[in-house]
Amino acid sequence: MTNKYIARRLKQTADLIELTGGNAFRARAYAGAARTVDRMDEAVLQLVERDTLTGVQGIGKGLAADIEALVRTGSFETLDQILETLPPGLLDVLRVKGLGSKKVRALWTELGVTSLDDLEAAAVAGRIASLSGFGAKTQTTILKNVEQLKVYRARRRYYATLDAVAPLVEALRDADGVERAEVAGEIRRKMDTVGEAVLVVSGDEETIRTIFLGHAEPDDEVDGFLTGTIGDGLRLRVVHARADDFATTWWRETGSAEHVTAFVEAHGEPEATTEDAIYTSAGLAFVVPELREGDGELEAAVEDALPDLITVADLRGSLHNHSTYSDGAHTLRQMAEAARAMGLEYFGICDHSRSLVIANGLSIERLREQGEEVRALNAEFAADGGPSFRLFHGSECDILRDGDLDYPDEVLADLDLVVASVHTHFNMTEDEATERIVRAVSNPHVDILGHPTGRLLLAREGYPIDHRLVIDACAAHGVAIELNANPYRLDLDWRWVREATSHGVLIAINPDAHSIDGLDDVQWGVAAVRKGWLTASQCLNVKSADDFAAWLTARRQVDRS
Ligand SMILES: [Zn+2]
Ligand SMILES: [Zn+2]
Repeated sequence: MTNKYIARRLKQTADLIELTGGNAFRARAYAGAARTVDRMDEAVLQLVERDTLTGVQGIGKGLAADIEALVRTGSFETLDQILETLPPGLLDVLRVKGLGSKKVRALWTELGVTSLDDLEAAAVAGRIASLSGFGAKTQTTILKNVEQLKVYRARRRYYATLDAVAPLVEALRDADGVERAEVAGEIRRKMDTVGEAVLVVSGDEETIRTIFLGHAEPDDEVDGFLTGTIGDGLRLRVVHARADDFATTWWRETGSAEHVTAFVEAHGEPEATTEDAIYTSAGLAFVVPELREGDGELEAAVEDALPDLITVADLRGSLHNHSTYSDGAHTLRQMAEAARAMGLEYFGICDHSRSLVIANGLSIERLREQGEEVRALNAEFAADGGPSFRLFHGSECDILRDGDLDYPDEVLADLDLVVASVHTHFNMTEDEATERIVRAVSNPHVDILGHPTGRLLLAREGYPIDHRLVIDACAAHGVAIELNANPYRLDLDWRWVREATSHGVLIAINPDAHSIDGLDDVQWGVAAVRKGWLTASQCLNVKSADDFAAWLTARRQVDRS
């Protein structure tokens, strides 16, 4: 259990005390404890183990007991009691952007709002605008944010859906009487977010049903063979197939409607016993699931012109990573050694720049100190007889509001690598945000544009940009575009990858790792770029260390002289 999680539960408790009209001092104590825990360097878990939690300022006996219970049991009495009595829909209402506990309390006590549906109805009827402390503008904003939350709630991030369905798939495969169980649908197509998990299963229906009931919440009224939810509420549909139509059923349940319809229109209903044969018997090259989006893949399959998609094994370097110099969890040495142990040949260290105080951004002086450590480590790696490995000293340099960079040019010129990213001032029009980024990438020191829209999947829309103009600007200045592989970001969106590569822009698949574990996030980035038809030669960090260094140098000579 991480400090962040504990802090969130404490903050939630504070909000809920306020929401239920409880003691304001008590609410403040929980809110204060949440802030304390959030800022602590040491893991709360360890303090609990050593029984030293009460020594922390602002955490008295009562709070310490609550936190200990939370760590040990996943909850504590105060929170449980409130949750017990609260209409559960209010938790959703509290998640609507812009609605704090005080506003939700007003909506609840004065308008009887206890769910998102209530809230939406009240807004549509115009009843919120007349409430004191609200207004017509707030009402409109609430309506918009409810719509967004409903979309978000129905979907899950791709990586989380794999964990959600894995135990069920495994149990089905292990069972006597089940012949075959496969994942289909959006998960198999590696969609960045997933609205429904689909399994195709053949075998004894009763056996399958029993296993399903052991892992999932069935719907009251089942639609089809078996439907319900799994995990934290992900929609689940199990399709029963016979052994002889398994391949065609799996195929039909995997492709997007566009892909399946276009195939049937051009080639008729498929009849084959393997997916391979479905394509080959139609005279087509095999289309991997992640390309089955109805976006030109069937035409390419006719010509045998489908891309040879990149794989994780193609990646030779990892660019854009953080360390304890800024907001990472591991030291530069730990991160570098982990990357080397993974078999990578080079590693870009790109900690945050000075204006991002919240992430402990580096002053120019600390950036220079880091440069010295990079040189020392490189000397050490070159001499230790281990596999060839090189650090590139970089920065994830903030793009300031006006498109300027957060370090002066002479500081940037000393770095090996500059990733330029937006972290502040998200409230811009599309014109402003686009202009800001175009200006940033035209700075000759910028090598890679980091997470181009700043989106967090199912949590925050990115700032609006004109992707075409941004891609054109990157092409003009030879700047690569990052596909940030953090499973919450996957930004650049895969739908823009082909536009970028068609202009000759290289894609950098960057883990943006803030810990050693985070280095593995490239797998999600690779899943996303494959949907964007990316081949290895279109990826920046597939280059060898020498070629990557040469790319950086060439850019400097062409663009910076
Ligand atoms: Zn960033
Ligand atoms: Zn970063």
